[in-house]
Amino acid sequence: MAKCALALGSNLGNSLDTAANALKALTNIPGVDLIATSSWYQTKPVGPPQPDYVNGCVVLQVQQNPEELLTILQAIELQFGRVRTEKWGARTLDLDILLYEDLVMQTPNLTIPHTHLRERAFVLVPLAEIAPNWIEPVSKKAIAQLAKEVDCTGVKLIDPNDIS
Ligand code: ATP
Ligand code: CA
Ligand code: CA
Repeated sequence: MAKCALALGSNLGNSLDTAANALKALTNIPGVDLIATSSWYQTKPVGPPQPDYVNGCVVLQVQQNPEELLTILQAIELQFGRVRTEKWGARTLDLDILLYEDLVMQTPNLTIPHTHLRERAFVLVPLAEIAPNWIEPVSKKAIAQLAKEVDCTGVKLIDPNDIS
């Protein structure tokens, strides 16, 4: 079994529902165990003008290797109606692999740690909630430290009491 961290994002449709349902779909997959779930955050988009995002992170134990995991994530994205349009454009669901143990790898379709992990507050803030001491293997810094080094002003905690 390997420990990995994923990012979930959505900014089309009912994003909170989508994120919660995607999480259920993920944990229903044999060989995937949920270890920790962050809060959900409302975040300002990067890229073309588009609605705010809902973002969150999870830590999983998985039997799958990184390539198998990516295939599963892409199938779940499709299941939730993701259509690929412009780069960094709006989407119903985005599932990214952030970390996989202390693995560093780069193939044409998979980069681990995720290329933008170290600079994205909308990923580092939720991840720091559930994996503050995980050492990001490229910078060799803890996630909590990386979260301190980015501008977090566009990342707002969603009050669970506001979620119907
Ligand atoms: P970003 O990668 O900047 O977050 P994005 O999530 O919008 O952008 P996508 O269109 O979802 O990008 O994915 C483009 C490709 O990224 C995927 O087809 C996949 O092969 C590749 N990819 C590389 N590394 C990863 C990773 N760690 N997790 C998920 N996809 C990855
Ligand atoms: Ca992404
Ligand atoms: Ca993606």
